[in-house]
Amino acid sequence: MSTCVFCKTKQSKYCGRSFHKFPVKDVLRLQQWLKEMKRKDWKPNRNSTLCSAHFTNDCFDRTGFLITLKKNSVPTIFDNPKSECSSCHRLREYGRGYSFFKFPLDEPDIMKQWIANINIGPWSPSSDSFLCSDHFELSCFQKKSKNYITLRKGSIPTLFGENLQQTEFQDESDRPTTVNVTKLHEHLHICT
Ligand SMILES: [Zn+2]
Ligand SMILES: [Zn+2]
Repeated sequence: MSTCVFCKTKQSKYCGRSFHKFPVKDVLRLQQWLKEMKRKDWKPNRNSTLCSAHFTNDCFDRTGFLITLKKNSVPTIFDNPKSECSSCHRLREYGRGYSFFKFPLDEPDIMKQWIANINIGPWSPSSDSFLCSDHFELSCFQKKSKNYITLRKGSIPTLFGENLQQTEFQDESDRPTTVNVTKLHEHLHICT
C-alpha cells in the first residue's frame, strides 16, 4: 500500500489516483523532481511514491492496463490552495517545520471538541481541512518516522488566539520558525 510522500494521500480503491515511484536510479531526473517539490535536501527511498495529483495529464500513459508515467515526466503540481491551516491560514509548505493534521472526521466526539476550540462559528471541516501543529501541545505529537509526525489518538487542539504565543508577528517571514522546529525536534528526538 502506497502513501504519497507529498500530500499523504493513501492508496485505496476509492482515491482515484495512481501512485508513482521516484526515479531513484536516474539522478538527473530525480533532481528535477525534488527541485519541483522544493525538497532538494530530502532523499526518497525505493518505496517512496508521489500520487498522480502532482502530475499534469500529459505525463500519463493510459494505453495499458496500468496507468504508467511517460519517460521523462516531471511532477509540477505542488500547490494546493486548500491546504492551509483552518485556524491561522498558514499554507502547508514543506521545509517550514510545521506539520498539518486532518480533522478527525470519523470521530465525531473528538471532532466536536476541535471545532469548539477553534471557535470560528458555524463551519464544518472537510477531508481537505487541516490544522497546523502550532495549535497542539507537544504532548499530542507522536513520531512516526524521521520526519513524519502524527497526532496521538484523541488529541485535542488547545492553542489558539491568545494562547498562541507567536500571533503578534505581523509578517509571516518574522515568525521564529526555527524555535518551533527545534522544540518539536527536541521533544521527538529527531536527528537532523
Ligand atoms: Zn500526492
Ligand atoms: Zn495554524
